[in-house]
Amino acid sequence: MRVLLADDDLISRAVVKALLSKWGYEVLEVGDGIQAWDILKEKDSPQLVLLDWMMPGIDGLELCRRLRQLDNNTYHYIILLTGRDSKEDIIGGLNAGADDYITKPFMPEELEVRLRVGKRILDLQQSLNEALEVQRYQAQHDLLTGIFNHAKILNILEKELYRARRQNSNLAIIMGDLDHFKKVNDTYGHVAGDAVLAEVARRMKNNIRLYDSVGRYGGEEFLLVLPGCSTEEAIIIANRILESISQEAVMFNSTPIAVTISLGVAMKAVGDEKTTTAELVQLADAALYKAKQNGRNRVEQAAEPSP
Ligand SMILES: [Mg+2]
Repeated sequence: MRVLLADDDLISRAVVKALLSKWGYEVLEVGDGIQAWDILKEKDSPQLVLLDWMMPGIDGLELCRRLRQLDNNTYHYIILLTGRDSKEDIIGGLNAGADDYITKPFMPEELEVRLRVGKRILDLQQSLNEALEVQRYQAQHDLLTGIFNHAKILNILEKELYRARRQNSNLAIIMGDLDHFKKVNDTYGHVAGDAVLAEVARRMKNNIRLYDSVGRYGGEEFLLVLPGCSTEEAIIIANRILESISQEAVMFNSTPIAVTISLGVAMKAVGDEKTTTAELVQLADAALYKAKQNGRNRVEQAAEPSP
């Protein structure tokens, strides 16, 4: 683990640095508060920080305050090194945002133990952050296919519709539904059905633009949100998706499973200020229904909503 050591006293710094290196820490050392601040305000700064209280430029106390005001999602565990040991000083240091303090002169063992506490807290915080990250991912994604889930894709549509109105641009959506998917489940089993869904989602993702979004709307239904897209462009994308699915069977345990998809395209045009997300979804749904009626494995477009 990396440690930032800031101390203007050369000898004391050399002693602490030698100890830190011996204990396996990677040490970054500076001789004043200004250099310390330059490092600490960067995104990738060491999270374990040893600050001398009295330093030229910016003192340790002020550095604590600044670090706590810095909102960059990184927690710094700060230990103040100080010659002061009155109760008032200690309270002042902790109030400024220090996590701990050590009074000089100190025993190496004491520093070692206190650093270990800091490291433990930082490690805990990191695993907490990772767990939160996993949770955030799971709250927004469909775990079978890895694409957005129902709630998230609608949330994206809502935001994009708002943006399209503000920027006065187009917004197209595509609703897709696998044809006769029940038959796949009945014939090959649900595990095979799941594999088909995952593969279809992968092919969809491969055929959209970087800023488009795809989500699993329901069982075998998919919703795509295409910002800035005209109906013509959306139809091209829909056909690309259709072909990527119909042209090559999905392989499941060496068994080819042929599937096709029907797609409905709807668009909010420039100047349209009133179409809601629900109406847009309904329009795409109606177009999808038309595609089913007209023989499946095809793309249909909705009538444009009147602006
Ligand atoms: Mg000093």
